[in-house]
Amino acid sequence: MTTPAFDNSYAALPDTFYTRLDPTPVKAPRLLAFNDDMSYLTGLDRVPPEDRAAVFGGNRVPDGAAPLAQLYAGHQFGTYNPQLGDGRAILLGEVLGPDGIRRDIQLKGSGPTPYSRMGDGRAWLGPVLREYVVSEAMHALGIPTTRALAAVATGEDIWREQGALPGAVLTRVARSHLRVGTFQVFAHRGDTEALKTLTDYAIRRHYPDASGPMDLLRGVCAAQADLVAHWMSVGFIHGVMNTDNAAISGETIDYGPCAFMDAFHAGRVFSSIDQQGRYAYGNQPNIAVWNMAQLATALLQQMSDKDAAVDEATEVIHAMPGQIEEAWRGRFAAKIGISAPDPSDMPLIEDLLALMQKDGADFTNTFRALGDGTARDQFLDRDAFDAWAERWRARIAAEPEPQAVMNAANPAVIPRNHRIEQMIEAAVAGDMAPFERLMTALATPYKLTDPDLAHPPTEDEIVPATFCGT
Ligand code: AMP
Ligand code: MG
Repeated sequence: MTTPAFDNSYAALPDTFYTRLDPTPVKAPRLLAFNDDMSYLTGLDRVPPEDRAAVFGGNRVPDGAAPLAQLYAGHQFGTYNPQLGDGRAILLGEVLGPDGIRRDIQLKGSGPTPYSRMGDGRAWLGPVLREYVVSEAMHALGIPTTRALAAVATGEDIWREQGALPGAVLTRVARSHLRVGTFQVFAHRGDTEALKTLTDYAIRRHYPDASGPMDLLRGVCAAQADLVAHWMSVGFIHGVMNTDNAAISGETIDYGPCAFMDAFHAGRVFSSIDQQGRYAYGNQPNIAVWNMAQLATALLQQMSDKDAAVDEATEVIHAMPGQIEEAWRGRFAAKIGISAPDPSDMPLIEDLLALMQKDGADFTNTFRALGDGTARDQFLDRDAFDAWAERWRARIAAEPEPQAVMNAANPAVIPRNHRIEQMIEAAVAGDMAPFERLMTALATPYKLTDPDLAHPPTEDEIVPATFCGT
């Protein structure tokens, strides 16, 4: 079988970082989805079509791969768990793309590993297709994210709370799978040597200009600050911002209980297990900072001059809320047609969001309608909107092309939760048409190609929560 040239740098690290292990074969692999774009960028287009189900279902390890399960730890909902790791994923290896980018090829749902704890090592079709659609939609929106290369049905039943469900394997592509939790596991063990090796590796792979651990921290904080502002600007709620789900690369990772908001509310939570609202929409900036503080704490374990390093790390972390606010302001200003905002624009943005929250206005459609001149219809309290719009028009009068700025910042279509649920239900019944339809429309989210998909859910279509039973 002709396969891409794997170049496995992680597998070349000491074996404290992982356990070598092949994916567990599945009963009857069947290719459900394959991403041509990603297959070109990974060279995996060279896997012949007739071999794809076997390769991406985990039944055949491609030549040059060095399969392994990665070790990591993490804070889950604020509580430290000393050992997590790939409990149901296998890193096949890394490939270098025609664009010069190194990418991890990972199978998710590929069977048990030494890190599975009580889990079965498997995934069911629902979360696999959710991640496929939402991660590709995020990419099309311009947001850094892991990508989806393939989805394979396994022909096996998976047991979850709901009963027996069809199993599936997702092929995930990432700049890397290094997480805050990858650093935490060695810091907590006091394994300074491994921590240093990992730090050097992360610098080489993601921040080649960084001068050392504190400079690496600076780079990751900047990437995460941008990322969370970007999420906020499209109404995205990650849902499980644990430190094991915070990527060093600055990509969005882990699409378990994520969702895009329909009616705007800053306190919106989807995840059924997030009882305290720790990962509510409006709390995401705080959590991003908290996660980076955990990274700082881990990185500090390797510093010889601890006092100076603590001061430096503290400064980096304290600067992060300001970085997020600046990125947030830039993104939200563009959403109302302002190309070069300054801090005095904040009240205009915040007052609009307050009106939207009061009326439960649809996040995506309200912003999109601003550019079309129909936003008034999105509000119940029209007088309040009119008063705001007067201030707004006065402000954007000085803008050369507010319409163009708005239409480039306000997607027409996002993967709405009820559409995802409908798509999953159809796929379970063997109908992939809704999946294909979503993928087509979401590939160009700033153009309205399928108006039905832009509608908020009707009363009986509303999906109030997403489940972690992945
Ligand atoms: P997540 O909530 O997806 O970020 O996963 C947290 C941890 O639980 C990771 O170590 C996963 O590998 C592990 N995990 C999640 N689901 C399973 C499963 N079905 N079998 C084994 N491990 C799992
Ligand atoms: Mg995870």
